[in-house]
Amino acid sequence: MRTEHDVAVIGAGPIGCAAAIAFAQRGETVLLLEANPRAAERFAGEWIHPSGVRILQKLGLGDLAAFTENGPRRGFVAHPGDGADPIVLSYPDGMTGVSFEHHRLVDELRRRAVSMPEIDYVAPAKLSKLEPVPAYVDGDTGAEVAINAKRIVAADGRRSGTRRLLGLPDGSVGISFMAGIVLDDVELPVEGYGHVLSGLAGPILSYRIGADQVRLCLDVPASATELRRDTDALYAAVAPALPAPMAKALAVSLKTRKPAWMETRFQTRTVYGRGNVALVGDAVGCTHPLTAVGISLGLKDVEALVDSTDAADYARRQRARARVPEMLSNALYQVFSDPRYDARAIRQSMFDTWRTSAAERRRTMALLAATDVRGSTFATSFFRIGFRAARKTVGAEMREGHWSRTRQTLARFASWSTWPIAGLVPGYRKIPAHLKAAGH
Ligand SMILES: Cc1cc2nc3c(=O)[nH]c(=O)nc-3n(C[C@H](O)[C@H](O)[C@H](O)COP(=O)(O)OP(=O)(O)OC[C@H]3O[C@@H](n4cnc5c(N)ncnc54)[C@H](O)[C@@H]3O)c2cc1C
Repeated sequence: MRTEHDVAVIGAGPIGCAAAIAFAQRGETVLLLEANPRAAERFAGEWIHPSGVRILQKLGLGDLAAFTENGPRRGFVAHPGDGADPIVLSYPDGMTGVSFEHHRLVDELRRRAVSMPEIDYVAPAKLSKLEPVPAYVDGDTGAEVAINAKRIVAADGRRSGTRRLLGLPDGSVGISFMAGIVLDDVELPVEGYGHVLSGLAGPILSYRIGADQVRLCLDVPASATELRRDTDALYAAVAPALPAPMAKALAVSLKTRKPAWMETRFQTRTVYGRGNVALVGDAVGCTHPLTAVGISLGLKDVEALVDSTDAADYARRQRARARVPEMLSNALYQVFSDPRYDARAIRQSMFDTWRTSAAERRRTMALLAATDVRGSTFATSFFRIGFRAARKTVGAEMREGHWSRTRQTLARFASWSTWPIAGLVPGYRKIPAHLKAAGH
């Protein structure tokens, strides 16, 4: 193994591997370190939007479609949950995504990285310090080994130790918990699409991860501890929102497998590194998985990093590209999880708008896929949906003579209006108060 490298990449998750491959493709030598090679077996990102697929293909993963069973993923189907027909939202311009178990993506990327002569992969190996000389601890021997690289790329995930070593605050905040459950031998209501349902406890996401397997992601509030302890209670809270065949498959799955619980966290994507250390992927920031954008954003970090002239250029490009996907994730999660009547009205208005407007469906999917990251698009969509919800709610209250409530309702909708306003203010990102942490 070489003793000097152009780049040292910390963490061989999806984004670290992608970074190593991208630098190697440019002829740079790379030291790729992974502390826990089995970390990829946990429940984590499985759905990748078209923008992420495009970058993976550039990195040499041309046959992603080959292990995406039942064809490409064409978008999402929203289930309003009131007995109304589901709404199909396709990616614009025939674009497609992929979905499969997290470890399959990481295995494939690691295989590609290890096959490249420019990359030295060391595992288990954990970055232990940056000062005075960067070093890692070899997990097999326990020896500390100096890192001799011109630059360091930290891809060590949302609890990034590199951030800590750089003296950057861990500004991540817990949002909720998500159960990953595998359903066997069940059909999705529409194959080739991810499905978003409004559950009793929180939003539900479902998509195919294998020829015979479907993933169910159940979001529950952090306060609902009984749902995490008691699978009968979980089933009772979730099953009514599911199509009958999926509810049946859930009952079978809960009898044989434990749900994989993961905390969902938020950290705003504003700090991209310091000195010769660049952050990529979840080490920069993370959002709720509802919009499934973590991997695609991380891959865009990699693309921007290798194309950037310097650290400031990289940070400037990515701050601008991540602002709207981050706000969209927080706004949509609030719309789907807030049980109050104004949030429910906005949710209903969103479904009504999607149902009647092909242009709005297209705009939403371009925002979701992060192919359109303009604040004006986010603002226009959110304003239209929010305004319709407010007009309908206030109109009904006035017709019924609930004048005193109308003032309160207007105040509630006014608080939602800060989302589209934030979209229009260049560089500004709205963070809901409960997700704000030190450093935001
Ligand atoms: C429940 C859940 C569902 C999700 N679903 C989706 C989805 O459908 N689509 C999507 O795009 N995103 C999703 N995400 C987000 C997605 O999983 C992350 O964005 C993605 O895994 C980030 O990749 P990463 O390589 O930056 O970090 P990680 O995947 O966290 O990888 C970091 C790697 O660094 C290693 N490491 C850590 N510290 C060190 C150290 N000191 N030295 C060496 N190595 C180290 C770790 O062992 C790990 O292998 C989901 C997240 C959760 C929690």
